[in-house]
Amino acid sequence: MAGSVWDEVLDTRHAVVVRTYIERWPRKDRAPEKVLIIVVEPDEEARHRCPECGERGRPVEHDVVRWRTLDVHGKRAFLESELPRIICGEHGKITAAVPWARHDDRFSRPFEEFAAWKAAHMPWTRAAAELRITWEALAGITARVAADAAAGLDRLDGLRRIGIDEKSWGKGQDKYLIIVTDHDRGQIAWIGEGRCQSTVRAFFDALGPERRKLLTHVSADGADWIHDVVREKAPQAELCLDAFHVVKWAGERLDELRRRLASELRAAGRDDQAATLGTGMWALRKAPEKLNGNQRTALASIAADNKQLYKGYLIKEQLREAFKVKGEDGKKLLRGMIAWAHRCRIPEFAKLARTLSKHRDLIYHTLDGGPSNDPVSHCTSYC
Ligand SMILES: [Zn+2]
Repeated sequence: MAGSVWDEVLDTRHAVVVRTYIERWPRKDRAPEKVLIIVVEPDEEARHRCPECGERGRPVEHDVVRWRTLDVHGKRAFLESELPRIICGEHGKITAAVPWARHDDRFSRPFEEFAAWKAAHMPWTRAAAELRITWEALAGITARVAADAAAGLDRLDGLRRIGIDEKSWGKGQDKYLIIVTDHDRGQIAWIGEGRCQSTVRAFFDALGPERRKLLTHVSADGADWIHDVVREKAPQAELCLDAFHVVKWAGERLDELRRRLASELRAAGRDDQAATLGTGMWALRKAPEKLNGNQRTALASIAADNKQLYKGYLIKEQLREAFKVKGEDGKKLLRGMIAWAHRCRIPEFAKLARTLSKHRDLIYHTLDGGPSNDPVSHCTSYC
């Protein structure tokens, strides 16, 4: 038996792990990919249920089916199970429901939750690449989670600390979503189409007057028009900026600076140094403790050859540190960091200092106990 650890890892009620094994998938010109297969079955209670009415049906035939689930140790993982077709008294011959996935879906629920969370926090093309699924699959997942979030009002119960963000819907089309994330549970709480105050109001209407009063912190990405609605609908909630967004601003300014310096170096005929800035890109974005050997070397050469860029990096790191430390010490670090960015004579960072000064009160609220970070902590590049 694969045992109870796997049942815990799976984190899905009514699913029992039967065994696990590794399958090797051939790849062109490379070693085969190792894929983890987790063989599961519904427990006694969930077996042979009709997806429409939940009644137990009589199994007549079955296929063996796989569902993509969350990666394990960097390996793609799939749930594998017999999927019976059953005869339901009311609904006739129908594919049985499974506890780990939506009906007729080929991704597990935890995978879809994770994917939707990622889609809410980064460009979709990048989220799809990191998840190793197609852009279309990601769009389908987000639509399903959105429909679920709209239908299942229980996601709105017990909300305390939330984030409200606008997100463009895919490839530069003029379509936007408002996504409300539950910072405490690390899941999507609500999704609405549109990019205006009435969409945000629709969320507060769905929440209703009682549950609205329970909100303690609302983070938004610095969009004033969202703040206005929050002040109107949940005046007791502290408005804050989630650390993820604030650190991301610093990361973006640092990228701008790096690109400008690289093009200046190329213009001056120093292509080799410009190339170092290119390879140093990831080193600059990552947290120092997550750097690998090559990235550390790249950072060291930036420190030696390019004082401005290295200074920008240190300023960004101080900002990150402020969110780690929090409280009064965090505020002290933030003030010092803003003052440093103001006087450092780097236009990109002077701009950052102005943005941070403008939102300083909101950032203070975050440092005083608002959502400190993406609780699932999947932001790899900026945090
Ligand atoms: Zn039925």
